[in-house]
Amino acid sequence: MRIDVLTLFPEMFEGVFGSSILGKAKEKGLVSLEAINFRQYSTNKHSTVDDYPYGGGGGMVLKPEPVFAAVEELQARSESKTRVILMCPQGESFTQRKAEELAKEEHLVLICGHYEGYDERIREHLVTDELSIGDYVLTGGEIPAMTVIDSVVRLLPGVLGNETSAVTDSYSTGLLEHPHYTRPPQFRDWSVPDILISGHHAKIEQWRREQSLLRTFKRRPDLLEGAELTEKERKLLKEWAQRQMAEENK
Ligand code: SAM
Repeated sequence: MRIDVLTLFPEMFEGVFGSSILGKAKEKGLVSLEAINFRQYSTNKHSTVDDYPYGGGGGMVLKPEPVFAAVEELQARSESKTRVILMCPQGESFTQRKAEELAKEEHLVLICGHYEGYDERIREHLVTDELSIGDYVLTGGEIPAMTVIDSVVRLLPGVLGNETSAVTDSYSTGLLEHPHYTRPPQFRDWSVPDILISGHHAKIEQWRREQSLLRTFKRRPDLLEGAELTEKERKLLKEWAQRQMAEENK
């Protein structure tokens, strides 16, 4: 997979692209990551990339020409279809499902806005997706782009070792992940649940699944609607819901 990011601040990506799991994935040749300053595609003599908004008002707006030129050059160089993603607080909410979908692509181009925003023609005629990382506004699209890239790259085959498999992660299974414990078995007054040190793998798996369900029920009941559950699990949820209701009515 190849991921290109169009930004006015490519230096912000140096640490993220060069460290930890992303750095290793790049080194192993599992992904190619590049941050490109789209100012170099500006054709005016001061290399400006923004201008005042028509109709007045505060803030500057990113001009269409350098962004179109940069994306079109990357598309022309690419042998595969390109997904062109605009980082935008008004876009579709970024989720694990979207990360899984993007991880199947061969070429992504992410556009980082800045200032007040960008010329609407970029949104209308250039991009294939608009993604938001949450209902809040950041100063630029760089941190949102890093978030998207990190979550996509960790899903690529060979990127995560077995020790950090993505399969059981929260959201991948449709539920939140179960709790984890490590040594020591007793820390202060708190001990590790007996089942986890029993060595009984089937029972441990059952405990984990139940904890995962319970955690989702308590923290993110909205996820349960789309989760694949067994009859037994649905019965368990019903019992918890009835118990919760009884406690609330006390
Ligand atoms: N005026 C814009 C609005 O109200 O929708 C906000 C512009 S914001 C200050 C500048 C840039 O940061 C945006 O163009 C976008 O690229 C990025 N950005 C800010 N918040 C974001 C979010 N929650 N998700 C994705 N990108 C975001």
